Amino acid sequence: APIILWFRRDLRLHDHPALVAACDSGRPVIPVFIHDETVEAMGAAPKWRLGLGLARFAKALEGQGSRLILRRGRARDVLEALIAETGAEAVYWTRYYDRAARARDSEIKASLKERGLEAQSYPGHLLFEPWEVETGTGGPYRVYSPYWRAVKDRGVDAPLKRPDAIPAPSDWPASEALEDWAMGAAMRRGAEIVARHVHVGEEVALGRLGAFVQHKIGAYKEERDFPAVDACSGLSENLTYGEISPRVIWHAGWRQMQDGARGAEHFLKELVWREFAWHLLYHFPEMDRANWREEWDAFGWRGDNDQAEAWRRGLTGEPFVDAAMREMYVTGTMHNRARMIAASYLTKHLLTDWRVGLAWFADCLIDWDPASNAMGWQWVAGSGPDAAPYFRIFNPAGQAEKFDTDGTYRKRFIAEGNRHAPDTARAYFEAVPRSWRLAPSQAYPKPVVDLAQGRARALDAYEARKAAD
Ligand code: FAD
Repeated sequence: APIILWFRRDLRLHDHPALVAACDSGRPVIPVFIHDETVEAMGAAPKWRLGLGLARFAKALEGQGSRLILRRGRARDVLEALIAETGAEAVYWTRYYDRAARARDSEIKASLKERGLEAQSYPGHLLFEPWEVETGTGGPYRVYSPYWRAVKDRGVDAPLKRPDAIPAPSDWPASEALEDWAMGAAMRRGAEIVARHVHVGEEVALGRLGAFVQHKIGAYKEERDFPAVDACSGLSENLTYGEISPRVIWHAGWRQMQDGARGAEHFLKELVWREFAWHLLYHFPEMDRANWREEWDAFGWRGDNDQAEAWRRGLTGEPFVDAAMREMYVTGTMHNRARMIAASYLTKHLLTDWRVGLAWFADCLIDWDPASNAMGWQWVAGSGPDAAPYFRIFNPAGQAEKFDTDGTYRKRFIAEGNRHAPDTARAYFEAVPRSWRLAPSQAYPKPVVDLAQGRARALDAYEARKAAD
């Protein structure tokens, strides 16, 4: 009887424990992807990008003599239907750790087991399972540095090889057509423009890692904070769909560190920020919706508002912030330093609830990751564990001077007033909805808030909250 291999955010053949186990069993393997409620809930850009990943992955499976069966519906119902159709007696999958997936998966596991079927989940999304890392007194970490010290010398298992062959069933169940899923339907913001910047599939991801390790890792520590410099790996896009295994990245970085490459340890530390984010989200599943520290519930955040809309549109009149938001429209990603500045500006200068920003990032980022996004927002807002103190307010103009001294990044994404604006800056005007009636020939907007006043208002709100504690 065949094994159903249920793919979710693990679209790769290398270092895939569930795939290896399925192939090693000697039974036929039926790879399946289910467009279920968790996919339905995804934002426009990540869903569109997932569609591209699925198309590529289906091709990769075909290259191995296999297929990707696509089905739509509630995951549990779909799996039951497939079991009935194929006579499968087992379902294998790679674990995912956000609240929705965990609730769904444990329900499915219980119901399959009840019926005497095999239901097996495997690691693969992370370096360490979130429950494997514990503080000395037991329980999860809340602070990054001790978490890093706890994991850095643990040793990460060697990645698994891709199987030589994926045994095919004699009869394939029917598959829906990916086009019918219209994964890009909500991506009205210039999918064709973002498409110039995507890097889809495991071959591309592994190539990216190779190039990063060869050319960029040495200077990573010094250069990673400068948004105009191409100094980072870009692998978050692939990690989020599982197109590359974090263990492969870890070992590539580790070897560089052993060889004395400057920057390698810092790169590993960043990869471990991702681990830490998942550790936090696993132990505190509300992290993507509730203030981590309850005292922040009484803070005077503003809900959605006109200034937040200007922020979303990249029209705040604050060039570094606008460049960041436009980078996201044009490329689907945003440099880490720019994410911090844009998030700080929204939550502090515009005194707007971090969840307003979190939701927009979740709609626009092709590397959207529920754990890193939530951790990033709460870190910047000051409401999170191990967060930056609220009173330390990034000044976007000062940050621009420091990290974009010659204005290259701002020029790259802001066209107004620049007759020689590069394509990337012009592309913003093609990407945004027509109804905004924007053109590069118009004047650049005046600041929606005076930086000194915005800062003072944020500090007052903070003092008021503290006084109420
Ligand atoms: P590199 O610098 O090459 O780093 C290598 C890998 O380390 C990354 O691919 C990523 O997996 C991990 N990493 C690096 N920095 C961080 C970090 N600060 N937190 C967690 N992991 C990190 N990252 C996402 O993947 N998805 C998100 O939705 C996301 N939202 C964010 C929102 C805010 C407000 C902030 C401040 C940060 C957010 N980040 C998010 C983290 C970070 O900005 C990106 O991971 C990083 O910019 C990805 O670029 P890269 O792959 O070139 O990273």
